[in-house]
Amino acid sequence: HISMPEKVKEIIGTLRAAGFEAWAVGGCVRDSLLGREPEDWDITTSATPEQTKELFSRTFDTGIQHGTVTVLLDGEGFEVTTYRIDGAYEDSRHPKEVTFTRNLKDDLLRRDFTINAMAYSDEEGLVDIFGGMEDLERGVIRCVGNARERFSEDALRILRGVRFAAQLGFRLEEETREGMEALAPTLQKISAERIQTELLKILLSGRPDMLRTAWELGITAWFLPEFDRIMDTSQETPHHMYTVGEHTLHALLNVRPDRVLRLAMLFHDMGKPDLKTVDEEGVAHFKKHALRSEEIARDVMRRLKFDNETQRKVAVLVRYHDYRMPVQGKYVRRAMNRIGLDLFPLYLEVRRADVLAQSTYLREEKLADIDGVEALYRQSLARQECVTLKDLAVNGRDLIEAGFRPGKELGVVLESLLEAVIEDPQLNEKSRLLELAEEKKK
Ligand code: ATP
Ligand code: MG
Repeated sequence: HISMPEKVKEIIGTLRAAGFEAWAVGGCVRDSLLGREPEDWDITTSATPEQTKELFSRTFDTGIQHGTVTVLLDGEGFEVTTYRIDGAYEDSRHPKEVTFTRNLKDDLLRRDFTINAMAYSDEEGLVDIFGGMEDLERGVIRCVGNARERFSEDALRILRGVRFAAQLGFRLEEETREGMEALAPTLQKISAERIQTELLKILLSGRPDMLRTAWELGITAWFLPEFDRIMDTSQETPHHMYTVGEHTLHALLNVRPDRVLRLAMLFHDMGKPDLKTVDEEGVAHFKKHALRSEEIARDVMRRLKFDNETQRKVAVLVRYHDYRMPVQGKYVRRAMNRIGLDLFPLYLEVRRADVLAQSTYLREEKLADIDGVEALYRQSLARQECVTLKDLAVNGRDLIEAGFRPGKELGVVLESLLEAVIEDPQLNEKSRLLELAEEKKK
């Protein structure tokens, strides 16, 4: 049973009253049947865009050449698209031309997967020509029609398929799987923005480890070759029981579905393959891999056009993911300063997820260590201790008033005062810091 929002009923009702066919279609039907809340409701209709526009007072042209008009009801927008057949695809992505059709079946035929190719209206119920309902029940992602053809029309469908499998916890039907494998190289033609969107949806899903399947099918090689490298890197150390890639997949599952956390886990060990050495006992060593991982994370995020703020946060977490310190106030305060107060709680989450994805060797000790750091971090916050320049009891102006010359040196003095306060929070008083600054002048 599908219960449509009132506004969707209204749009469909208006189109039908004018003699056209109109249905809710695609993702909203799929999600409703699964008992999930649809993100948005798309409507498909036999009316042309011009005819749709005549029926509603507020509309705007969203993709008029593809037959899409947005209908606004009380400020809320709904995409209404004319039944269409997609013409030949030029570049595995864009249909060269679209043809409008009077036939719902033709419109459903152009859609990617059976579970996305169902239509529904209250008046006529569910239209399911390709067995979408059965695939929903069995948990299967299956192309509408011939899988290879559908992926060669549009390579983005390969990633969408992996993404739906990850989001819904479904498996890939055999022909669909083979089609993905065969057409994987055409992913090169897909834009960075679209890859970013799909990758994030996979990472934030309940099954980010679908990346393993994508790797097995040779899909990741075409948009994230760095992932293939960690899948191929073993690590024979007592701390690990998996390849770097398997460890990464477990670590991904150990953090909440937060974009910065999931990205940080994806990248945290990507530098290991470059730095792997094996000693006489056959034990693998990965020196300074966190810094190399950070470089790779930055490269990949730049290539996939992530925003600067995401890049910064993920880079910091990757750089510090393995940063350990004695469980003592001053070391924890120093780490709070280096990592930043916004990211410190995420850093703790990253460290725990990392440890839990390792072997059980020393696990209790490692977790107790993190608990100790967290307790000191909370204590420091509760005491409102100063760990950043902005909380220091003196600033540049105070120093100038005390006779220091403006300029670059001022920054150096302030940093050294902060370092002293991190060592000993009691020092964070204006007079004591000015005294200390005087001493440093000499
Ligand atoms: P979600 O909104 O959760 O990402 P969705 O299935 O609604 O999932 P949309 O991108 O909103 O996906 O597209 C709506 C519908 O349009 C899909 O359900 C599918 O029927 C069709 N569709 C979207 N992209 C493609 C594509 N690349 N090839 C074929 N059909 C597509
Ligand atoms: Mg949608």
